[in-house]
Amino acid sequence: MPEPFLSIQYVRKSFGATTVVQDFNLDVEAGEFISFLGPSGCGKTTVLRMVAGFEEPSGGRIVIGGKDVTGLKPNQRNIGMVFQAYALFPNLTVAQNIGFGLKVAGVARAEIDSRVAEMLDIIKLPAGEFGARYPYQLSGGQQQRVALARALAPRPKVLLLDEPLSALDAKVRVSLREEIRSIQKKLGITTIFVTHDQEEALSISDRIVVMYGGKAEQVGTAFEIYNRPATRFVAGFVGTLNVLEGRLGNAGKVQVGSGEIALREEPAGGRSGDTVSLALRPEAIALGRRDGDDAVLPGEIADVHFLGSVIRVRVRAGDSIVSLDTFNNPATPPPRIGDKVEISFSSGDVMLLN
Ligand code: ATP
Repeated sequence: MPEPFLSIQYVRKSFGATTVVQDFNLDVEAGEFISFLGPSGCGKTTVLRMVAGFEEPSGGRIVIGGKDVTGLKPNQRNIGMVFQAYALFPNLTVAQNIGFGLKVAGVARAEIDSRVAEMLDIIKLPAGEFGARYPYQLSGGQQQRVALARALAPRPKVLLLDEPLSALDAKVRVSLREEIRSIQKKLGITTIFVTHDQEEALSISDRIVVMYGGKAEQVGTAFEIYNRPATRFVAGFVGTLNVLEGRLGNAGKVQVGSGEIALREEPAGGRSGDTVSLALRPEAIALGRRDGDDAVLPGEIADVHFLGSVIRVRVRAGDSIVSLDTFNNPATPPPRIGDKVEISFSSGDVMLLN
């Protein structure tokens, strides 16, 4: 990786006796879009607030553009921030909100006007229609776009977004996240986006930091995080994961219910008789015997959910229930609860959970 633009090094944060962020390390390249993904309370916002300068780290340092900013105030760091609550100034118009930071910085009037016009153009709110409106005259999505424009107007080097979409309804959320990503790419601004919504993180990020208990569990692209989860937490938190409980036999064989799976590799340190957990994504499993699959288990249909183009089927295999998807075929009726079936998969797709 080239010289990182933003570097978070061994950052810790304690509130009183409680440590909420521990040894957090991350290097972000210039222009990269990073998401912090994790459950409520895992420390996402705290790390973001330390990068912004609203919270002082208990240890470690933060470097932006080659400069140690750990001791600097937020307004000395050249960052723009958007919060979950719209946080616009209610008594200022859209144009005044967007120009606020520039005015505080003493930028000349004409320059403010042209920068505000440029920002309104970027967020696709026509100046003539929206510039003179007050925040209460805007929808939630429009307010968040103005908040984004306000954060970007001073041309910060880093953009920090703290769950900016979580107060919006589902449809606006999806369209605005695409818009944020396209604006970010166009401006090439280094960005950290905090979310607890995995689909959001998977769909728009260059890389994702999955956080749990104040630590970075894994840093990687959506593809890596989903297909090669580094820990059991990541495997379970991102996407749907089927876990098959089995008993280890000899030579990497695992007994699951009345069936048997031959693992590609014997689990390190595993002994015959040990209980093992095998994990599989729904898309790795087929209903029936699929050509090329080397693992076949008997089961029984436990549940069928017709979702439209796909049918999500849950199959009981031994003591485990696995979810898989089949495509809807109008010529064939869907499986029924209680049907005796087989499921198949490739043992190469099995992830062994410790
Ligand atoms: P959410 O998705 O719910 O916003 P988060 O991952 O952003 O969660 P943080 O807001 O970073 O989590 O909080 C991490 C932990 O730190 C939580 O347990 C929280 O209660 C605690 N915490 C945050 N700020 C303070 C504070 N000022 N004083 C004491 N504890 C705090």
